[in-house]
Amino acid sequence: MKIKYVRSAGAVVFLAGLWVALSQQPAELTVTKVADDLHVIVGSGGNVAVYTTEEGVILVDDKFEQNVPQILEKVSGLSSKPVKYVLNTHQHGDHTGGNAKLLGHGADVIAHENARANMDRGKMPGLPRVTFTESAGVHLGGKQVKAWHWGAGHTNGDAVIQFPALRTIHTGDLFVAGRPFIDYSSGGSGAAWVKTLDAVLKLDFDTVIPGHGPVMKKADLAEWRKSFATVQSRLLELKRQGKTEQEAGGLLRFDDLPRWESASRLWERSYAGLWRELER
Ligand SMILES: [Zn+2]
Repeated sequence: MKIKYVRSAGAVVFLAGLWVALSQQPAELTVTKVADDLHVIVGSGGNVAVYTTEEGVILVDDKFEQNVPQILEKVSGLSSKPVKYVLNTHQHGDHTGGNAKLLGHGADVIAHENARANMDRGKMPGLPRVTFTESAGVHLGGKQVKAWHWGAGHTNGDAVIQFPALRTIHTGDLFVAGRPFIDYSSGGSGAAWVKTLDAVLKLDFDTVIPGHGPVMKKADLAEWRKSFATVQSRLLELKRQGKTEQEAGGLLRFDDLPRWESASRLWERSYAGLWRELER
């Protein structure tokens, strides 16, 4: 939008209003194929995995509430069966916003009990009806999906969803194509996160659907985990050198860490907590 050519203040206000209106429209979603029976709906909010079976569809996460009509339209392009289960990777609204509407469509929503507690505390709609603590299995149409929890990371209620037959996992925001967000207000932990990823990496899989970003490989997740550990050891070293939180933030290097190069506001929001967490 070339606002610089608009000279009238009234027109600028109009264009700004139009921009706000356009940005409130649900973004266009696209479908990426992982396997014949597993697809990812990308765009606006977290990645949604769509696992189709003869008896119904299993979703992992459901973006924002306003995305539900388009999610259901994309699902109907992949299967004539209804959505039976939604597994939430954690409580954030860009992963659980569609829960209430999908519960209304007859789906069951499953999440880690801490994720449900976080939603409840935040008065978020669409509370999961089924919870688990360590692991859970969903069996539908001869297929199986497993949910795993190994401790804190992005939040205290993260689940990694495994599609064993497809050697594929959905990590939620425990892995993203960029710097992480450690949600300390929801029990997240940078130190625990690396250990949690060590447990994730012991699973048998090749393909990784991250919480946000393109579908990747196990080696990408291993590399990202290594970068996370490197960032923490660099910060700890700066702390031991007597640097202040602010000085260390300025000195911390990311340029040699793939996918960590770009600054992010969510990382900025995580930094102070991580600094406090180190050497505790
Ligand atoms: Zn999140």
